Amino acid sequence: VSELRRDPVTGRTVIVAPERAGAIAWARISSSPRDPAARDRCPFCDGHEDWAGRELLAWRPHGLPNGPGWQVRVVANRLPALRVESQFAALPGGLLESLGGLGAHEVVIDTPDHDATIGRSSADAVARMLWAWRERMRDLRRDLRMKSFLVVKNVGVLAGATEPHPHSQLVALPFVPIHQDDEVVGAGAYFRRTGRCVFCDVMAEEISADTRVIGHDDSTMAFNPFASRVPFETWVTTRVHHAAFEDLTDHDLHVVAVRLQDVMARLEAALADPASTLLLHSAPVGIDEPASYHWHIEIIPRLGPVPGLAWDGGIHINTVPPEKAAEALRQVIGGEAVGAARI
Ligand SMILES: [Zn+2]
Ligand SMILES: [Zn+2]
Repeated sequence: VSELRRDPVTGRTVIVAPERAGAIAWARISSSPRDPAARDRCPFCDGHEDWAGRELLAWRPHGLPNGPGWQVRVVANRLPALRVESQFAALPGGLLESLGGLGAHEVVIDTPDHDATIGRSSADAVARMLWAWRERMRDLRRDLRMKSFLVVKNVGVLAGATEPHPHSQLVALPFVPIHQDDEVVGAGAYFRRTGRCVFCDVMAEEISADTRVIGHDDSTMAFNPFASRVPFETWVTTRVHHAAFEDLTDHDLHVVAVRLQDVMARLEAALADPASTLLLHSAPVGIDEPASYHWHIEIIPRLGPVPGLAWDGGIHINTVPPEKAAEALRQVIGGEAVGAARI
């Protein structure tokens, strides 16, 4: 039986249509096959620093700038409009023209480990990636023309990644892209009506319903949203209200890293290293009501082709109800999928 669900933030409608085909949608599509020779020609591997370009930021316990020994490294994207990944091509609002003129496009090389995944990394390594995102956003924010920041991390060729080495892309824009603007407008309307943050209210409701929560404590939470657009869509954020990601402290980054590592390990186990896109949404600069917007990470597994209707027409048909996804992810124990998660 199909069900129409309305997203509480944007008002977007999703059709949840569990059916036998749902099992196919979960089909295991591995993000990328291992290729041992790939490191030799990888521009993001340790020792190839010259290939990726001059660094803007690095976490390097030993060694010199632009040399080996780093744990995370940020470089400018040298040919942003050409090297832009498919994820950006789909974003409306003149993003490509903007990057050709005003805007910034940077590449964060998340780790020196060519084969790392978030789920198989240490929380410290994940925290260093988050640290690089935050530091670059704090720096770019000083350019008063920049209105919004977006971090996109594509894992796997199916998700549009052009390099297999773990990396994320940071974009600063002189406008707010349309998908995020929908959230800002929806959350603002909710705030004016109730005086509260819709994201904080959703989390409180999810904890009492306890059907879509993967894990939570006093500081962080991971859950499958009520109106999930795709099977296993997963959100991670802080329980304490913060509008902007760049306002998080080092301690906040660490607890978020612990939660993100845990939830990615569950997704990697339940779905066998799925191709995925991870999006960081943070409040636009100078937002009218900072109490209305709540930063968050959206994890979008790419378990099959997404029909053009979904991203362009805004109509999503999800064949795996988020309650089933949460149940499967909660049952992952010690990196092994058990019970419903084993299909
Ligand atoms: Zn590499
Ligand atoms: Zn909030």
